[in-house]
Amino acid sequence: MQFKTFEQGIEVNGQTVYAIVDGFKLFKAIAARFLLENEIGEEVEGGDIKIIPEKWYSQEAWLKAFESIAKKVGESVLFQIGLAIPENAKFPPWVKDIESAIKSIDIAYHMNHRKGNIALFDPNTGKMTEGIGHYGFEKVKNENIIVSECENPYPCEFDRGIITTMAKKFEDRAKVLHDDSKPCRKNGAESCTYIISW
Ligand SMILES: [Zn+2]
Repeated sequence: MQFKTFEQGIEVNGQTVYAIVDGFKLFKAIAARFLLENEIGEEVEGGDIKIIPEKWYSQEAWLKAFESIAKKVGESVLFQIGLAIPENAKFPPWVKDIESAIKSIDIAYHMNHRKGNIALFDPNTGKMTEGIGHYGFEKVKNENIIVSECENPYPCEFDRGIITTMAKKFEDRAKVLHDDSKPCRKNGAESCTYIISW
């Protein structure tokens, strides 16, 4: 279900958290208010917010911020925030085409979250720790199609945004469609499925 953590004690780094501010574009003061209301970041003069990139923030609080944004501003902003994620979060260095770009989302997702002070993906050992769900990757043989089943606590529109930016990075004309024949987190399901084609 969107907005509900899978486990307690998960944290997300400040670099990633900042995508909410970025997603609001010209309305940064509104983004700041949603974050501050959920005890993320510090207020600075002029309605601005200070988020320290290398500091870690509660995933639960960040998801609550998403939930109030969805309720008060609407789901389309969640899509904009998702689009801004790849510009903010850390991604692995081996991304070189649309396939590796979509594949990297799950790795980046785990690199940018931690539990008990340990990141959920260690690039040195390749070890991934569970606790936040996944961004799926399934290439359709002989076709320029990838199916991504996303089972994680983030909202449907947000994930569509992340996948869209990553797909378009290498394939201008890539399309990302939500598979409406599959379950959707907007309706209380555990996952959403997206079809990426180019
Ligand atoms: Zn959905």
